[in-house]
Amino acid sequence: MKTMMMGSMNIDYVYHVDHLVKPGETIRVKSRDIVCGGKGLNQAIALAKAGLDVTAAGFTGEEGQILRDIMKESGVNTDYIQILDRPNGHTVIQVDAQGNNNILYYPSTNEMFSEDMINTWLDLLDKDDVLVLQNEANLVPYMISSAYEKGIRVCLNPSPVAEDIRDYPLEKCTWIFINETEGETISGYADPQDIMDFFAKKYPGTQLILTLGETGAWYSYQKERVFCEAFRVEAIDTTAAGDTFTGYFLQAEISGKDSMQALKQACAASALAVTRNGAAPSIPWMEEVMDFMK
Ligand code: ADP
Repeated sequence: MKTMMMGSMNIDYVYHVDHLVKPGETIRVKSRDIVCGGKGLNQAIALAKAGLDVTAAGFTGEEGQILRDIMKESGVNTDYIQILDRPNGHTVIQVDAQGNNNILYYPSTNEMFSEDMINTWLDLLDKDDVLVLQNEANLVPYMISSAYEKGIRVCLNPSPVAEDIRDYPLEKCTWIFINETEGETISGYADPQDIMDFFAKKYPGTQLILTLGETGAWYSYQKERVFCEAFRVEAIDTTAAGDTFTGYFLQAEISGKDSMQALKQACAASALAVTRNGAAPSIPWMEEVMDFMK
């Protein structure tokens, strides 16, 4: 069974400053960090660290070598990533002494998908293989439909959610992973039960996984409802919690475990991730998750 992540791979340039720059002002930067990001990259790394066979499909710029390296070190197949002669998708982030930030995001390579390229990558998959998507790329509705027509199972985390999400062919997804806020944007309901009822009625063929941060997560499919409490840990940085959850849930599902076992494994992995700083480096390996669950 193969999986493929199609989507964003981003470089975050983080500038530490005394205060956030004002209009017309020039300030000296104290230090700079370069961080690998993009939900797509985090998803791919989570799938690989969970032990799945995963290929990354998408674009990086010339300076995207660090992205390809970190994915490769995590076990992701990066052979099919296309390198474009343009800046990698990136953010410029200012962080002041109080921890406030502002962010410029330049999508660039993350939004260069064409229908032809999507189909070329999808040809690497067979029926019943799994395509994993987020919403940081262009042509996501096309990715969903094209995979569905080839009998490939689609897993979507529609983050970042925008208003047009309601026009996406969500009924063609096998799994949808959302948090409460995203659930409210899509369904119009704030209560988890109402969100799950909305999805079960509107998308009866789709399995919904609704994550509730430190509370835990729901699995909902037609009339079935399963809840797993989050593990109690001291959270330091919740970046990539959701992506870790997705990777570890899918690994369990694909290896034939039931929904409760899948939720538990995913909650354990993401609890470990929130106890560590950073995005990709905070995603645990399967062995660590197994130890933690004991
Ligand atoms: P997202 O990061 O996509 O918004 P959530 O915040 O809902 O997603 O987190 C995803 C999962 O990560 C949760 O369902 C939970 O299992 C785990 N998690 C998140 N925050 C914590 C926390 N503070 N303590 C323990 N587990 C957590």
